Amino acid sequence: MSIKVVKFGGSSLADAEQFRKVANIIKADDARRYVVPSAPGKRFSGDIKVTDMFYACYDLSKGGSAEDFDAQYKMIEDRYNGIISDLGMDFDISGELKYVKRAILCHAGRDFAASRGEYLNGLILAKYLGYDFIDAENVILFTEDGKFDSERTQEVLSAELARHERAVIPGFYGIMPNGTVKTFSRGGSDITGSIVARAVNADLYENWTDVSGFLMADPRIVKDPLAIKTITYRELRELSYMGATVLHEDAIFPVRNAGIPINIKNTNKPDDEGTMIVASAADYDSEHIITGIAGIKGFSSIIIEHDMMNAQVGFVRRVLEVVEDYDISLEHIPSGIDTMSVICSTEQLDSCREKLLAAINRNIKPDSLNVEDNLALIAVVGRGMVKARGTAARVFSSVSDAGVNIKMIDQGSSELNIIIGIEEHDFNTAIEAIYREFVK
Ligand code: ADP
Ligand code: ASP
Ligand code: MG
Repeated sequence: MSIKVVKFGGSSLADAEQFRKVANIIKADDARRYVVPSAPGKRFSGDIKVTDMFYACYDLSKGGSAEDFDAQYKMIEDRYNGIISDLGMDFDISGELKYVKRAILCHAGRDFAASRGEYLNGLILAKYLGYDFIDAENVILFTEDGKFDSERTQEVLSAELARHERAVIPGFYGIMPNGTVKTFSRGGSDITGSIVARAVNADLYENWTDVSGFLMADPRIVKDPLAIKTITYRELRELSYMGATVLHEDAIFPVRNAGIPINIKNTNKPDDEGTMIVASAADYDSEHIITGIAGIKGFSSIIIEHDMMNAQVGFVRRVLEVVEDYDISLEHIPSGIDTMSVICSTEQLDSCREKLLAAINRNIKPDSLNVEDNLALIAVVGRGMVKARGTAARVFSSVSDAGVNIKMIDQGSSELNIIIGIEEHDFNTAIEAIYREFVK
């Protein structure tokens, strides 16, 4: 029998009505045997995700009043109790809620607090479906230095899953050798789903969310963007890294190595095809030259000028060494004959701005040194771009016709992506202009 691993995101499990949809989806296909839930997400815009409530509780446990903590925790209890009672379930979760509350107050840690969102939701979902519950802390393993331990997890998890015909495994967290609960970064339930899919050698990893697949652009910026039918793992990684948050950027690794495709599906429109994420796809099966557009704000450019820079052997290396000393990861290094820029996240730069600039002045002695903040990067990604001439020209002209000044251009040597740097306030205008140029 084929096996599907199904992961449901926060909005898919935000309330009882969503739980019902999820159960219908699972029951509609016998192959959907392993289920990875997120914590309850937003029910409406402006609502608060349970994970964020847990982070807030943790902060209050450190430096807030007992009343504020209790009030915050009560909101969490209400979310879970609301789901249980609206589903008409005979299930008492109050003991668990009490235990978690005490543990957070007894310094069980920030990751522990955050992980309870998935843990509690997993308990409810398992009960509702009549599936076994497997606590992720017994099967998702991290190393002592907090890295995901892929090999040991594969061993332990596949052995455990083999003992269960059908099971719910909460997403987002696992455990370190010393017994401390550890989470992945935000959105990490996608990673758990992928790890589970690999462990059971699934035929398909279905990732259920609130949009009908990976869309060609962020729906919050472009109105009703088209869904991408097929996308390769590499294209997806480029887009997720650049802010298309539909799937966590690290979620593809476990399934990619095992050759398991991912299908992004919409819990609210289960009949929509969604997006298939695959190892490779022909360039010509896409209707459009580009596969998608994504972007992120919050970058800075450190601009270094030095006459005859290009003639000085080792100049770039010396600049990069200084940057590395301050533990800054660079995104791009556009350069000219007498200038070079280092583009990095403003947040990272702010942790050492003054010291880093002083070190560059000291070690490099540039003719001038400036920093430009408030930059955004936009990536235009597509496997079809290699074959299509003039794609870069179309990107640039559409953006400049929309009145946006391009500050930086970078084309990956694989010709899979073109990245432009612009000012943050032009972000939406530029993405819309590129979308209209290539789609309609
Ligand atoms: P989940 O809680 O199900 O994991 P996420 O919020 O992590 O869902 O991801 C889905 C959201 O990603 C969508 O609601 C949408 O707002 C946003 N998004 C950003 N870029 C894209 C894109 N290119 N295609 C689809 N959704 C996108
Ligand atoms: N609940 C976690 C978060 O909000 C993980 C996830 O949803 O994937 O980040
Ligand atoms: Mg997500």
